[in-house]
Order: sequence, then C-alpha cells, then structure tokens
Amino acid sequence: MFASSSSTQERNRTVRHSRKLAPSFIALGNNTNTDASMGTLQAINVTSSSVANAVLEAARDIKAPIILQVSQGGAAYFAGKGLANDKQQASITGAVAAAHHIRTVAKAYGVPVVLHSDHCAKKLLPWFDGMLAADAEYFATHGEPLFSSHMLDLSEEPKAENIAHCVTYFKEMAKYNIWLEMEIGITGGEEDGVDNTGVDNNSLYTQPEDIYDVYSALNAISPNFSIAAAFGNVHGVYKPGNVRLHPELLQKHQAYAAQQLGGKDKKPLFLVFHGGSGSTKEEIKTAVTNGVVKMNVDTDTQFAYLSGIRNFVQSKAGYLQSQVGNPEGPDKPNKKYYDPRVWVREGEKTLSERVKEACTDLGNTSALFIFPSFSNAMVIEDLFYQTAFKGCLPGGSEIWFKAGRNKAVCITFYHVITFGTLYFCRNSGSYDIKLKLKHCTTIQNHD
Ligand SMILES: [Zn+2]
Repeated sequence: MFASSSSTQERNRTVRHSRKLAPSFIALGNNTNTDASMGTLQAINVTSSSVANAVLEAARDIKAPIILQVSQGGAAYFAGKGLANDKQQASITGAVAAAHHIRTVAKAYGVPVVLHSDHCAKKLLPWFDGMLAADAEYFATHGEPLFSSHMLDLSEEPKAENIAHCVTYFKEMAKYNIWLEMEIGITGGEEDGVDNTGVDNNSLYTQPEDIYDVYSALNAISPNFSIAAAFGNVHGVYKPGNVRLHPELLQKHQAYAAQQLGGKDKKPLFLVFHGGSGSTKEEIKTAVTNGVVKMNVDTDTQFAYLSGIRNFVQSKAGYLQSQVGNPEGPDKPNKKYYDPRVWVREGEKTLSERVKEACTDLGNTSALFIFPSFSNAMVIEDLFYQTAFKGCLPGGSEIWFKAGRNKAVCITFYHVITFGTLYFCRNSGSYDIKLKLKHCTTIQNHD
C-alpha cells in the first residue's frame, strides 16, 4: 500500500549502502512520548542456570524482551561457592559462564535478551575489568561484546570522581559498543530510621544538576548509557515506610536536562529504576512515564523462587524423609519426589510467574512479533497499522514505514542484542522515527 512499485529498487539499493554495525544494546523506552504503556525492560537477577532458564521461559511465554543480569555475588555463585574469590576470579568466571549459558539457550527461547552486569562498586573494579576483558575477547571473534551492558556504581564516591571513572571506562566500552549504566545518588544508604517523606535530600534523592552533569560528560562519548538516579529506592534493606519512593522526581531530571539541551526532546535521559521489589503499580507507572527504560527486580523474584520449593517440600514432607517408604506404603520409592528436577522445578515455576507479573506491570506482555525467517527487504505492511507495534527481527532485516505523505522510509537493522536479533518498538499514535534515529545511532533512514 504505502510502498510504491519503485521502492523495490530503492530497497535493494538501501541494502547495499546502509550496512553499519549496531550497538549490542538497544535502548528502549519511548523517551520522547508521554504514553507510558511500553518501552521499559524488566531486569531480573540470575544466579544459576535454573534461574536464568525460568526467567527466559517467562519471557517466552508472554512474548517479552527481557534483561538478565548478574550481580558480583550472583556471578560468583554461578561459578560455584566453593571457588576462591579474593581477586574477583569467581565473579569474573561466573559472569562469563552465565553470559555464555544465556547466549546459548536464549536462542531456543526466541526472545531478545539483554545481558547485563549489576552494581560494581569501586572495590569491585577488578570484577568489572575481568568482564571487559571477556567482552574484548568476544568482540575480536564475533564483532560484538559478550555482554550487552554493564553497570558501574561509584555513587558512594564524590560526584567528580564518580563521573571521572565512568568517563574513563565508558571510552573503553564504547569501542565495543557496550552500554553503560551508572548510578548517582544513593540507592538505600544510611538513612535508616530517618523519615524522608517528601524531602528532596541530596543522598537519597539525586538532584537534576547532578544528573545533567553525568549526561553531559557521557553523551560526549556515546549515547548508549543510562542513569540510575536515586528517588528513595531501597534494595530491600529498609523497614517499610522509612523511605518513600518519589518516582515523580524523575520528571524534574528530564525537564532540567531538556531545558539545558534546548527543549526539543522532552525526555532526553534514559533512567533506571533500582530496588523495584515491593513497588506499587502506581509508582512503577510514574517511573515509566518519566523515562525509566530499565527496572530491576531481585528481592521479589528470590522469594518467588523459594515459594514453589517451600510449598513442595511442605506438602510432600512424607515423601522426602527416606529414599523408600512414604504415606502410601513402606516399600514405595520416593525418587520422583527428591529428584532436583522435581522440587527445583517447582521454584522455577513460581519464579517464572513472578517474572511475568513484573513484565506485565511494565506493559511488556505480547510485546513481540517474532519472524524467524524474515527476509531482507520484506515489507510488513500490516505492522504499520498496528496501534502498538513492537517487533523482533533478525539482524539484516529491513522494515518499511510510511513517514509523511507518499514517502516510504526504510529502517535497516543489523544485528544487535545477544543473539543476533534486534528489538524495536513503536508506540501508539504516530510513528516516531526521530526517536529511533537519535537513540539508535546505527539505524539508517532512507527516504
Ligand atoms: Zn540496584
């Protein structure tokens, strides 16, 4: 319909002239649109292949793109608690192992995955260095880094030092198209017992000027970064009620940055929501509206993983006391109850359900159209008319849009995300090509 007959030739020409390497992390978040219904990715901490698989299973079942991340401790656990970790060697090995595991199995689940590493404080920098070395090695062979993205958290250091470290690392990371997540302001912290309700204090509530300083320093290197700003977030260490979440403060950061930048882009910042466990639906919605592109959940999914196992062990207690002999008779075997594939599986199921809930809170269900054999230069006319389009296309795919009257626009996707597919979204209403061109620097626009 909108693709005229002459555009076939144009498309072929496009294929030849627009190849360019894309970053391995795709920034999501409908940052220039006030519709908060989509665009934020759920990030789940994984500590074992069992946890990772359960998260991928959830993402597949609800057709959601997802972020799998390892913390420093979680990575060490992935490699095994029996390993020494005095030089971060277990955390490095475990992070690399997790990345390879996820890369391998994610293809089978068929969902876009962003591979990320969580908080890295100053004293843990050897862990960060180890992962970067693995990224560089993987890049040399595959043309993409092992991880999509890493977090550097120097929020406990003075601001100037925090930013200076981020700049140094980000310059290196940019060579490999790695996304940086940084933190400024304190998530949680030492304010326990102090009622911070409604208070804009500097430690638990990052100030707009600080955010903009970070933006200015990092944007000079690459647009592929996000900022975890404190708005009263906690990591599950506080008693409820001591610190209040104020996701509405994020709007101030966006407005201040927009004003400094000239105001064309109303939400120039990619923001990250830490300590998402226990948040109300309203808080999540406000955060998403204000440009949060990634939300972390760990505590709630840990508890969910336990739940299924706990329920199984409690309800089958009579079958778990010996290898033979249960309430059905003294000679009855119990193998089908004590096999880890049975009871661990119960934890995977409850974890998976919690992940689905988390993605649903962010509006990420049924988010993907997956085209395993999508051919180059194919026109997907229908998708243009979807009111809420999100697509997952293999690298090299092209998709054509009508942009303006009688004008066809081609966007070519080249490899991205962890297994060669790229996640792309468009919100309801008019297609916003400016957003994509701005934040996904590698996407080519032809008209
Ligand atoms: Zn965090």
